[in-house]
Amino acid sequence: MIVKKKTKIEWSEESWNPITGCDKVSAGCKNCYAARISNNLHGYGVKKYRNGFKVTMHPDSLNEPYLWMFPKIIFVNSMSDLFHSDVPEDFIKKVFEVMNDTLYHTYIILTKRPERLLELNEKLNWTFNIVMGVSVENQDVVDRIDDLRKTDAITKFISFEPLLGPLTGLNVEGVDWVVVGGESGPNARPMKKNWALEILEHCTKLGTPYFFKQWGTWGSDGVKRNRWTNGNELNGRVYNEYPKFIVEKHFNF
Ligand code: SF4
Repeated sequence: MIVKKKTKIEWSEESWNPITGCDKVSAGCKNCYAARISNNLHGYGVKKYRNGFKVTMHPDSLNEPYLWMFPKIIFVNSMSDLFHSDVPEDFIKKVFEVMNDTLYHTYIILTKRPERLLELNEKLNWTFNIVMGVSVENQDVVDRIDDLRKTDAITKFISFEPLLGPLTGLNVEGVDWVVVGGESGPNARPMKKNWALEILEHCTKLGTPYFFKQWGTWGSDGVKRNRWTNGNELNGRVYNEYPKFIVEKHFNF
């Protein structure tokens, strides 16, 4: 479903970080913004980042969603990976309990560790307000989609960001939402237009909502410049589709 923008919402409108810190696991992590920002905040002496980018639990952040009175689309752990092996199972369950308890919010979780997600799947309460996703940056990690399909998450999505290569034989069956984007930052790697268009074709065939987030540092013409100048148009149009339930819940028409 297409969202005609009435709000400033792009992908989510709030970040909730009951955990910070992570380790790099695949090519998509090379220029991880969370690592860069965590280390900067550590340098500035920000208490939450006292351990830099080492995995750290923040029990005092668990209640934050209760303080947001209006329904929000919340990105869970923008500064970490909820399914990192250093995050205790009990803590993951606590994060889920908060999400289960605040159904008026929508939570977006993204992981590059679907094997642990799958291992814990049956122990977690998948309420309708949880949107579970895996990152797939290139062909090497496309199997993450199979793991995602096996979970009981009601809404599943794939984040092809940063998209670093073509995906041959892609199958988006059983997936409810697809997000595509290029990489930002001084060391960003370019995304080719064809890679994004091929994914769009798969989505169009199945009617899967497609959200083209941004070109990033490299434009559609292959020129390196400011990401805001490069924008978010793909072949002359903006794709900002969301799963139907998010549109009905969070956008007023
Ligand atoms: S999994 Fe995510 S948070 Fe962790 S290092 Fe990779 S990009 Fe950064």
